[in-house]
Amino acid sequence: MIAANNPILSSWISVPEGSDFPIQNLPFGVFKSKGSEHRVGTRIGDMVIDIAQLFETGQLSVDGFSTSDFQQEYLNPMMKKGKEATRRLRQALSDLFSSENSVASTTESIHKTLFSVHDVDMCMPVQIGDYTDFYSSKEHATNVGIMFRDPANALLPNWLWIPVGYHGRSSSVIISGQDIHRPKGQIKPDDNEPPIYAASRQVDFELEMGFITYDGKALGDSISTDEAEDYIFGMCLFNDWSARDIQKWEYVPLGPFLAKNFASSISCWIVTMDALQPFAVHTPEQDPAVLSYLKFEGKKSYDIHLQVGLTPENSTEKIICHSNFKYMYWNMSQQLAHHTVNGCNVRCGDLMGSGTISGSTPDSFGSMLELAWKGTKPLTMNDGTERRFIQDGDTVTMRGYCQNEQVRIGFGEVKAKILPAK
Ligand code: MN
Repeated sequence: MIAANNPILSSWISVPEGSDFPIQNLPFGVFKSKGSEHRVGTRIGDMVIDIAQLFETGQLSVDGFSTSDFQQEYLNPMMKKGKEATRRLRQALSDLFSSENSVASTTESIHKTLFSVHDVDMCMPVQIGDYTDFYSSKEHATNVGIMFRDPANALLPNWLWIPVGYHGRSSSVIISGQDIHRPKGQIKPDDNEPPIYAASRQVDFELEMGFITYDGKALGDSISTDEAEDYIFGMCLFNDWSARDIQKWEYVPLGPFLAKNFASSISCWIVTMDALQPFAVHTPEQDPAVLSYLKFEGKKSYDIHLQVGLTPENSTEKIICHSNFKYMYWNMSQQLAHHTVNGCNVRCGDLMGSGTISGSTPDSFGSMLELAWKGTKPLTMNDGTERRFIQDGDTVTMRGYCQNEQVRIGFGEVKAKILPAK
């Protein structure tokens, strides 16, 4: 077991009941406090810890790292050091903030590295090079197939053989809390008329999780399913905003384009694969048997509870979806093995989206498209208004956490409001 995951550990920093951030989590993010430059930090309870300052003052030293690795706008220089190094760093942070460490708990220069979450601005944690989005939930792919094609043949013939994906766009990946304008483009509201240029009428969210990679292998080399997790730094919540009416008209034959690249929101904290390790679970059985390079051993998925809340302007939040990352048919190791099987190289800071994560019951569907079943089953909000898609002024908030009898490891939230079209 990874020592920093020991469930009996506690911190001398107080952790509120039900917090996503006990000492067993120690996620990584980038923040700014008043008047300061960007800093790499971690979080315990409601305190953000300035790792750069811990190094600067000599309170923390970890083989392979220096202060400048943490005086950065992004986590990339830290992630460049690889899995073993970031594992040592997380362990050193655990040792420093453990209740067992009575020296640290009374050292003034360490207390000076702690900031209340309310006093800092969280920043985009990763400089994302490439962004790839998969389509790995069988329930989601089936629902979409039933709605748009043929209920009898809902899954396309390749779906059970290939972790289907497409290359997205990294420039419009944004941090939680940044609001977005309703996108405009070509839509075709009447099948018998030509398309029109208008604001999208079918803005939707996609409940996803993302994973962030370390440096992969050289161009031409492949990463096996056995090796894959050594190349994954951690995970975040991911809302892959979509405009269904733009998507429906444009996606043939090359797939999503402007329907998907106007914004994708990620959560502030990247939770390491090490912290998630106690929550590893088996993935659903795959039938037909997958090709050799997609075979894997052991528990390759994670039991991560997910929920989506919708808050209309001037109303209260309604939880409209409960799902779980473990429902995914294709796991991250298979996605990475498939992504590199042709020799495609992944790089430090790439983002891979899971695809919309739907479960088997109607309250577990991970998009409005499915929840309101193509507009035929509108959802009723707390203020009595109905929703088929996302309206101007609506805020969508996604949350995720792992929980066992001893520990809760959470991701916080990813949220954004849809503003009127520009
Ligand atoms: Mn997506």
